[in-house]
Amino acid sequence: MEKLVFRFNNEISQSYINNKDILGGKGANLAQMAKLGLPVPPGFTISTKICDYFYQNNQKIPSKVIKQVKKEIGIIEKITKKKFGDLSNPLLVSVRSGSRVSMPGMMDTILNLGLNDKTVIALKKKTSNGRFAKDSYRRFIQMYSNVVLGVESYLFEELIDNYKLTKGVIQDTELEEDDWDGLIKNFKTVVKEKTKKVFPQDITQQLWGAIGAVLLSWNSKRAKTYRKINYIPDHWGTAVNIQAMVFGNMGENCATGVAFTRNPSTGTKEYFGEYLINAQGEDVVAGTRTPQYLSKKLRKESGSKGLSMEESMPENFKQLEKIFKKLELKYRDMQDIEFTVENKKLWMLQTRSGKRTAKASIKIAVDMVSEKLISIKEAILRVDPNILDSLLHPTLDEKAEKKVVASGLPASPGAASGKVVFSAEEAERLKEQMQDTILVRVETSPEDISGMHAAKGILTARGGMTSHAAVVARGMGKPCVSGSNEIKVDYEKKLFKSANYEIKEGDLITIDGGSGKVMLGKVPTVKPDISGDFSKLMKWVDKYRKLKVRTNAETPVDTKVARDFGAEGIGLCRTEHMFFDDKRIISVRQMILSNTLEDRKNALAKLLPFQKNDFIEIFKIMGGLPVTVRLLDPPLHEFLPKADKDIANVAKELKISNNDIKSRIIELHEQNPMLGHRGCRLGISFPEIYQMQCEAIFEALVECKKKKIKAVIPEIMIPLVSTAAEIQILRSLVEKIAEKVQKKYKIKIKYFVGTMIELPRAALRANDIAKYADFFSFGTNDLTQTTFGISRDDAGKFLNDYVDNKIFNKDPFVSIDDKGVGELIKIATERGRKQKKNLKLGICGEHGGDPASIEFCENAKLNYVSCSPYRVPIARLAAAQAYLKKK
Ligand code: ADP
Ligand code: MG
Ligand code: MG
Repeated sequence: MEKLVFRFNNEISQSYINNKDILGGKGANLAQMAKLGLPVPPGFTISTKICDYFYQNNQKIPSKVIKQVKKEIGIIEKITKKKFGDLSNPLLVSVRSGSRVSMPGMMDTILNLGLNDKTVIALKKKTSNGRFAKDSYRRFIQMYSNVVLGVESYLFEELIDNYKLTKGVIQDTELEEDDWDGLIKNFKTVVKEKTKKVFPQDITQQLWGAIGAVLLSWNSKRAKTYRKINYIPDHWGTAVNIQAMVFGNMGENCATGVAFTRNPSTGTKEYFGEYLINAQGEDVVAGTRTPQYLSKKLRKESGSKGLSMEESMPENFKQLEKIFKKLELKYRDMQDIEFTVENKKLWMLQTRSGKRTAKASIKIAVDMVSEKLISIKEAILRVDPNILDSLLHPTLDEKAEKKVVASGLPASPGAASGKVVFSAEEAERLKEQMQDTILVRVETSPEDISGMHAAKGILTARGGMTSHAAVVARGMGKPCVSGSNEIKVDYEKKLFKSANYEIKEGDLITIDGGSGKVMLGKVPTVKPDISGDFSKLMKWVDKYRKLKVRTNAETPVDTKVARDFGAEGIGLCRTEHMFFDDKRIISVRQMILSNTLEDRKNALAKLLPFQKNDFIEIFKIMGGLPVTVRLLDPPLHEFLPKADKDIANVAKELKISNNDIKSRIIELHEQNPMLGHRGCRLGISFPEIYQMQCEAIFEALVECKKKKIKAVIPEIMIPLVSTAAEIQILRSLVEKIAEKVQKKYKIKIKYFVGTMIELPRAALRANDIAKYADFFSFGTNDLTQTTFGISRDDAGKFLNDYVDNKIFNKDPFVSIDDKGVGELIKIATERGRKQKKNLKLGICGEHGGDPASIEFCENAKLNYVSCSPYRVPIARLAAAQAYLKKK
């Protein structure tokens, strides 16, 4: 059998020390820190492979592992000179989960294991600290009962809260040994009531119970949800780490804390973190006590009175600073660290690459290049393209009027507006109805993860900058205001109150996670600032990418945004969007309702100047860059009025009868409009429509030339082609109009004609089609629909079942299905280029902005991707990463 148990820092473990697949992230990092000579409490890791075995074998642990665990506990005993279960100097351990990638708070950990009614007395005697011993025991009972025995933790917290009320104290630390004695008794009664058994006193039973529970937590609902959201495979499993306890709760010379080697919110190179004196592990993140700042600088900036660790424990702080430097040098990345001070001795309990905001991610990558810690290529690969999204969206308009309801900690930057909801379920429910929400909780817990994902932003009343809400929100790139002490949340009445406001469920609020402000209503926003580090990174990115990045845009506003974000042309300009405008829809309707060619041409003539002007505007902004214009694509009925009132208005304006319109609507009705009379089929039936559109394009070019605007080369794109004959006919239509315009104005016009490849037949017949096409643009939305035979608009009902049953790894409308749709793209690319060597190839589906799909496009050797304006920088970065990964 393969090796399953690894001691931190021993020889056999050395060859596995970088293997997170086996040791899990936490286990590997603990072993690495031990190797660096940092003070890590002794311990060992049971491989992630145990997880698989456990689930395959009726939740059993192999006997060999049981033996090895026993042996390793013996080693810890030797090092610590304590003994597990000893009645004079008992060893306590923590049992910690740890998967390959960190899943903050998703899985379970148990501290202070090895305590029972007898060893707790021994611990008291040995340390001469009864309060500490009893505090540790009650924590153990709480954690063990919750994690292993399934007793809900609020039952214990309620007992503590009520007791503190009667005693008239606020902090847990104000409770004495006797107080805990009483509470421990009550805790045990709760356990007896809920589990029908007494709290286990056998420490070996405790140990295996805890190990089993950690393994089981891999398949808890919240862990599964987290994996689904983050695309973490189920088969990875978790390792189990067992480690000697060190105690931050022994008194005033003790503390526990969380630190980041740089500011995870802004990326600034400053120590950032929180700590609590006389506390244990979870206290800092749980929000039960408000933690204090690590550094003096940040404490001063925040105006907080509680002494920073730099001030209260200067020696330990200095030690930490040295360790921060060492760790950054080793990992060449910002670290997120857990530590504990036991009687002035510092212990390291965890290090990992820290989660950070988009802004911090960029700043840290750029800074580390100038610090010569990493190379430019590494910097490019460090920034997750998906998180840029949060940076590129508008931020609050400083000039807008704001009614500030309350403020809290600026836990995760960005602005978000939405309806107030108080539960994760409600956030999810409203998301299904496409409604924006702000999730308001006293504090969040891992159970809220799916609701946090569904909400636009998160507001909590309790918890610091490293609380669960803050860490998870930063990881998700979601705005979050945490620890807003000014608000009182009432779950029952579904409202929250601040000094001057009462906000009910469903009320609209705005939060600004950059300033920590909570505001009434929806506050207007402005364009983001993309200069500085961002533009520096983008310059590097452009040096290392082969794929061009264009945008899908049809309005001057979108075109301008995309241009500012670095779009190198338009890959898809959907002309029908121009038809929906208030002033022109009436002419569009007139055209559709016409009974004769004559009438239709008249209506089209009215539309021509509008289309022409639209193109002039877009050509101006794109000065010189390619612009792909797609001729009319959707079925005509989409343009007709639906409600009776609208029908009556149109009838009046066009001087025809209501009934005529209604019967035309019935005539145009289709059973399957997606596969109906649309795309180039319209151009074949009503050539005059495409003729008008081409005339508008060419006349716009003439106009630009007159105005000395740098000429764009339009790429006229014929949609939904499946045969060579279609494109042959329509290409000659375009050429005829071009000739006509050239003759009329005596100007030479340069243009291309191409097609969208969005039907499987078109991909397969790419060879013939390429005879008449200068370019192909893969319309991957429709190509995915038609390859799977799945309608995107109806897929919502069952896509989740498909993901849950692992039929789809990812939604194929989000990431290209490389096996099927991808195969068709490859076939079309190969056959098309065989016919025409210089055939230009790109994609213009929604996939054009998805990093995984962009990687596919790079590997398939396309020339460009086209995506929505706000995704242009994401695509540029993803394109560079795809190129660098190939090498
Ligand atoms: P998580 O992954 O949820 O952070 P951890 O396993 O890191 O869970 O542990 C939870 C808390 O308990 C952390 O604050 C950690 O520092 C603390 N802790 C874990 N093991 C020990 C130990 N051996 N001694 C003291 N504190 C510990
Ligand atoms: Mg941890
Ligand atoms: Mg299409």
